[in-house]
This record gives sequence, C-alpha cells and structure tokens, in this order.
Amino acid sequence: MDHMQCPVCGNSSKLKFKLKFNVYKCRECGLFTSDANFDFSFKSDLELQSREIGLKKLRFSNFETIIKKLEELKGKKTKGLEIGSGNGWWLKVCQEKGIDCIGIEPENSHQDYYTENGLNVYYGFYPSPEVKSEKGYDFIIFNDVFEHIKELDELITALKKDLAENGTLIINLPMSDGFFYRSAMLLHQFGINSYLTRMWQFNFHSPHMNYFNQKNLTMLLNRHGFVKAEDIQLESLDFSTVKERIKADGGVNKLKAMFLSTGISLLKPLILSSKPDIRVFFFNKK
Ligand SMILES: [Zn+2]
Repeated sequence: MDHMQCPVCGNSSKLKFKLKFNVYKCRECGLFTSDANFDFSFKSDLELQSREIGLKKLRFSNFETIIKKLEELKGKKTKGLEIGSGNGWWLKVCQEKGIDCIGIEPENSHQDYYTENGLNVYYGFYPSPEVKSEKGYDFIIFNDVFEHIKELDELITALKKDLAENGTLIINLPMSDGFFYRSAMLLHQFGINSYLTRMWQFNFHSPHMNYFNQKNLTMLLNRHGFVKAEDIQLESLDFSTVKERIKADGGVNKLKAMFLSTGISLLKPLILSSKPDIRVFFFNKK
C-alpha cells in the first residue's frame, strides 16, 4: 500500500519508510502514521530493571512540572484519571503532591508497585465502565500513551463523555520535530534503521501508531471541540543516565550501547539547541 488516509485531517498520507511496519506521512498536516498493531501477547525485549534506573529521575521531575501547571490552570482540588498507568510513577507523584488521581492499565506487570504504594489502578482497557465517574473528571491524562492509540476519533469521543464540564485533557508525548526523531530519520536515509525502529517502538508489543507535532495534535483536538489552553516542553534526556536507557533496549549489545551513549553525549550541545522532543498539551473541553 502506497497511501493511506490521514487520521487527523483526512488527506492522503504517502508511504515514507518501510521498517518492520510501514510509516506514512501526511502531505497536509505532517502527521506520521504507522500500520503497526498492538501485540496482545504483551511480549517485549525490554529489560524492566535497567529501564527503571534510567528513567525514574527524569520522569518524576517532568511529572512535577505537569502538576505545577495543572494546579495553575485548575487549582488544587481536582479529580483525575490517568489512561495507561504503566509503572505507576505519575500516580505516585500525584500521591506525593496531594493530587487525587486514579488509573487504568491493561497490563498487570506493575501490580506489586501499585499495591505497595496504595495506588488506585483498574485493570483493563479504556473506555471501561470501571472508571466511569458521575460528575466527570476534572482532568484525564496520557503519559507516553496517546501515540500508541489507533482509533483516535473513538477515543476522543469517549474522553469527552468522561470529562467534567470545563474538564482538561492532558497529553504528554514525543514530538516528530524533536531532535531525536529527526536524527533517526536522517540515519534512516543513510541506511541505519535501528534508531527509527526504536523511536517507533516497533520491537515492543505496543508500538507507536502516530508521531505528532504541535500543529497536527492541536488540529485533531480542535476537530473534536477542544481548545488548547497551554503547551510546555519537558526534559527528554538526562545525560547522566543515557547508558542505562540505551541498555534497557534489550536488542542493543554492550559495546554498541557504549558507542551510542558516547555519541549522544557528544551531540549534547546540538540537542539542547533544537526543538523539544517531548511536550505536554493541556486542552480544555468547550
Ligand atoms: Zn493530515
């Protein structure tokens, strides 16, 4: 297939890369879309422990940034839902900061952490009657999850129903115009595909379905009657833990991991002067 319909603007997306799955790019809005599928076997080559060390500090500090903005926009007394709670870190930071938030998660690999920390996470896929709220949520948040979802229109329709009047949708996700994605595309042109495959998480059971930029994400939410209140950039890489992050990708051997982390450290000045790799958006329901 050479073309597919862009899920954001409906125009024609043209085949851009052939990796494990095909990636298409919309000529109009610039959205990248893959034809990947969710693998319900839940099997990945991810080494969980190594990943934890590399990411925890960075994620906690990004979540604190989001909570600060959330409180600025909505005050301290809010009721929230996180979709795809994963390791439970967002809920943990909420707990520490006194924010009332529950989660829903289709995998059970982090249940012990939820139990040990007293986090309230329902097991299952969203939308689910388990997380229905009478008055609706003041906010619903996606942390590195929105880009994994294929059926965007169905999802956003459900979100609108579950949000309170004036509710806020918060989307924290990687950007297609960030330094890492652009570097990965450049390397692909030189025949090196592993970085782009890694960016799309095509070797994990839950790959990315879309890669957004500020413009096309806003366009998608506007179409469903949401208005952007704010978007801010988040930190994407803590250079002290680059090696652990690369090692967490089980397919990379030790020597290669060493070269990669050295290479990225050398590029640091360039990375810091380019567009942010991760942004968080706050959209208000009209
Ligand atoms: Zn488009």
